[in-house]
Amino acid sequence: MKIQSNEKIEALKKKIKGQIVLPDDLNYNEVRKIWNAMIDRRPAVIVQCAEADDVLHAISYARENGLEISIRGGGHNIAGSALCDNGVLIDFSNMKTVSVDVQKKRAYVEPGATLGDFDKAVQAHGLATPVGINSTTGIAGLTLGGGFGWLTRKYGMTIDNLVSAEMVTADGRKIYVSEDENADLFWAIRGGGGNFGVVTRFEFALYPIGPEIFAGLLVFPLDQAKQVLQKHREFVKSAPEELNIWVVIRKAPPLPFLPENVHGKEVVVLAIFYGGDTTEGEKLIDPLRSFGEAYGEHIGVMPYEQWQQTFDPLLAPGARNYWKSHNLTELSDGLLNLIIEFAGKLPSPHCEIFVPLMSGAANRVPSDAMAYGHRDAKFILNVHGRWDEAAQDETCIAWARELFKASAPFASTGAYVNFMSGDEEDRVAAAYGANYSRLKQIKKKYDPENIFHNNQNIKS
Ligand SMILES: Cc1cc2nc3c(=O)[nH]c(=O)nc-3n(C[C@H](O)[C@H](O)[C@H](O)COP(=O)(O)OP(=O)(O)OC[C@H]3O[C@@H](n4cnc5c(N)ncnc54)[C@H](O)[C@@H]3O)c2cc1C
Repeated sequence: MKIQSNEKIEALKKKIKGQIVLPDDLNYNEVRKIWNAMIDRRPAVIVQCAEADDVLHAISYARENGLEISIRGGGHNIAGSALCDNGVLIDFSNMKTVSVDVQKKRAYVEPGATLGDFDKAVQAHGLATPVGINSTTGIAGLTLGGGFGWLTRKYGMTIDNLVSAEMVTADGRKIYVSEDENADLFWAIRGGGGNFGVVTRFEFALYPIGPEIFAGLLVFPLDQAKQVLQKHREFVKSAPEELNIWVVIRKAPPLPFLPENVHGKEVVVLAIFYGGDTTEGEKLIDPLRSFGEAYGEHIGVMPYEQWQQTFDPLLAPGARNYWKSHNLTELSDGLLNLIIEFAGKLPSPHCEIFVPLMSGAANRVPSDAMAYGHRDAKFILNVHGRWDEAAQDETCIAWARELFKASAPFASTGAYVNFMSGDEEDRVAAAYGANYSRLKQIKKKYDPENIFHNNQNIKS
């Protein structure tokens, strides 16, 4: 650990409005914790920013002292790229304000806001935009990698609804990016992650949603998985875009609406969301009940904000995680067989296979419109290796890797960088596909020294 001199730290403290946390401070270990408990890194200096100008000073400090930089939004990234050893952590935990312009249907969001902070502020006005499905995820990392969730079929990905951003660049300038201003950089940050600078404010378009929506879970036994998944595959082909259904395969958690003897058994869950008229939603999803003989269901009218937190208990921080994922243009029978086979050997009660549904508006954006280019992806296969004890590392990681490898022949091109683990550096170029060469040029222009490299790194 490089110990920082008192004089230098005192000088930095005087310049910033936020707080500095150092390794000797009592709260250091708490502050450096991130979502994935497998990642344990010790920054030399944590700058808890209070305003955009603090970022300028943090970057200068890192440059002057030869320290590397990492950036934390919500700290959820599976690869743990929010943290670096011995460097400067630019931490946005204290910048979470979300302001809403109801007339313009716009949200102005600080980079430490979680999806929960965001939903709370916008739902106070009956508004929303597509974000992810776990409310403790950070809006910053999610947006910069792409972002998708229940509203994606109707309104596209999170990046499709990013209107502008305020950024601090590697050479210490505060700039604005949008279709009209620094358009190349705006193109790059919509999918290119934290490679190009530090975002200090996001502006999103909003749409009327809820506040009540129709949603819930239908839980089937694993031995009916093939028929349930085949019927789901057919059903979603013609379903309206207000409807989204994700498949989750795992061991049943002790949910109160499931009989006790089902708890711990392998199940196929259809997680259903309908953002239109709630009575219409009830009618629309009724056929799903006949996909098999369900163990149980919990479906009905509920606040959108509540539904956005449904998966929080299953995805709480503090567990060990290793994820792998593929893009998919279809769910072929061969892939379904594989998923079912691996569901039969889940190595921990928390390991799961998620199959989000994309399609709809997300597929209508041209693939070169912004850095994220996989507009043909209709589904994603997301293998969540998740467990509690270090002793299980090898078994759970092996399970995730084996399913990832076996399912590769069914994958379409590219990958979603936000679901990539820390050992997938050699997959970054392929993840961006045809957009990678433009990303490299923009990286060269805005960060030629690659000071922002704690991410799925684009090297110029
Ligand atoms: C439980 C869970 C559920 C998820 N569900 C979804 C989902 O439904 N949909 C979806 O699309 N994704 C989902 N994800 C993936 C998620 O989008 C990524 O993990 C994302 O990186 C999280 O963002 P964060 O701000 O919390 O991460 P952090 O770890 O804080 O940041 C990740 C990286 O983003 C960059 N970054 C962060 N803030 C800034 C900034 N202000 N300026 C520049 N760069 C920055 C940095 O490179 C940083 O290393 C999920 C992840 C988890 C763990």
